[in-house]
Amino acid sequence: MADYYQIQPAIFCEPCKDCGARPVIEQIKDKFVVLCPNDKDHYKTKPGLIDVKDWNLKNKKQIAFVNTTVPAQKAS
Ligand SMILES: [Zn+2]
Repeated sequence: MADYYQIQPAIFCEPCKDCGARPVIEQIKDKFVVLCPNDKDHYKTKPGLIDVKDWNLKNKKQIAFVNTTVPAQKAS
């Protein structure tokens, strides 16, 4: 069984980009994962040190890909 820990309120965390939840920390043996408390399919960091930085990076609201519709090249 894994234990969930709340992240200290003083530590800035981006809300989950999928559902807006504040992340929690899951301890797996001696490793830690920063993850969304609502859904394990939402982003989570790799097991290791508590990597809030990585979580913040991945959940930052940004346009990673500009959704441009590239017109298909017409073979003439
Ligand atoms: Zn989520």
